[in-house]
Amino acid sequence: MTVRTRADLSALPSYVPGKTIPGAIKLASNEVSAGPLPSVVRAIADAATAVNRYPDNAATDLVARLGDKLGVAPERVAVGCGSVTLCQQVVQATCTEVDEVVFPWRSFEAYPIITQVVGAQQVRVPLTAGHGLDLDAMAAAITPKTRLVFVCNPNNPTGTALRTEQIEAFIERVPRDALVVIDEAYREFVDDDAVPDGVELAKRQWAAGRDNVAVLRTFSKAYGLAGLRVGYAVASPEVAETLRKVYVPFSVNALAQVAAIASLDAEDELMARCRAIVGERARVRSELLAAGFEVPKSQANFVWLPLGERTAAFNEHCLAHKVVVRAFVGEGARVTIGEPEENDAFLAAAKSF
Ligand code: PMP
Repeated sequence: MTVRTRADLSALPSYVPGKTIPGAIKLASNEVSAGPLPSVVRAIADAATAVNRYPDNAATDLVARLGDKLGVAPERVAVGCGSVTLCQQVVQATCTEVDEVVFPWRSFEAYPIITQVVGAQQVRVPLTAGHGLDLDAMAAAITPKTRLVFVCNPNNPTGTALRTEQIEAFIERVPRDALVVIDEAYREFVDDDAVPDGVELAKRQWAAGRDNVAVLRTFSKAYGLAGLRVGYAVASPEVAETLRKVYVPFSVNALAQVAAIASLDAEDELMARCRAIVGERARVRSELLAAGFEVPKSQANFVWLPLGERTAAFNEHCLAHKVVVRAFVGEGARVTIGEPEENDAFLAAAKSF
């Protein structure tokens, strides 16, 4: 007799993280290349002396800080072990196996995996020809079984972003018993005023009586804490409460909690870093365009090269130049914006492709 694991999981692909190759420049995981600030490292070191104790399960201080920063009541904030875990929590909070999760595709790789792991039904909606979310097609894909819709803005891996009026018109078309989750993992890199701050957009929806809008954000990207795993959701009190119920106890650890708070203390410095990355993004894109690549306008800390069948060869070429990008074979390559010299190394590789 062998152990019987769930048959429906046997065909499930595993999440494939960006590779780390010794001696190569990693532009594969949308991390910030600069290391953590000294003040953050000190906070982590101080907290390390107390790791014999469990962390605060409610992350009370962090939740209070986030509520203050965002101008929302703390009962609207739920934390998670990275926003990927919050993606899972929202599926768990809304879906049973007959229910449907609508999401754009290609988008964040975790959406289909998590939906299947939780045991709900996936409804993938292809992107537009311009590599953006097709909100008309997403609205058309909604059925009475739809409990959850992911709107990834800016979209990973294409970097495209939706404008305020597009998202608002879309929300109008979603039944109020289905939750719209705006995944804003890359919010801090947005420099186009037409792209909404999802939390402000959600507040307007709540004020208009629509409680079915939630926002996910993370400390992994702009705040440089990818290795510590902490993200947060902003939602109606009822949805946030359900997210807390499906939260695996203590999953945002004590070091992550203090590091997130120390990062909020150093927000000005971290946001200045983001602006430098945004400047580099413009430079990288314009050099790629000049070299003849198609590069959709990006509002995130990466660019997308829709290389189609040439993707695998481009990936190999970059690897030969000791630059690790994220290839989606047959579709394109996603390249994180790093420090100027890392971007120079990537550009040199790309131009010689
Ligand atoms: N959402 C999107 C769109 C992402 O790209 C990512 C990270 N790749 C996440 C969520 C999850 O990030 P984390 O779990 O590190 O917070």
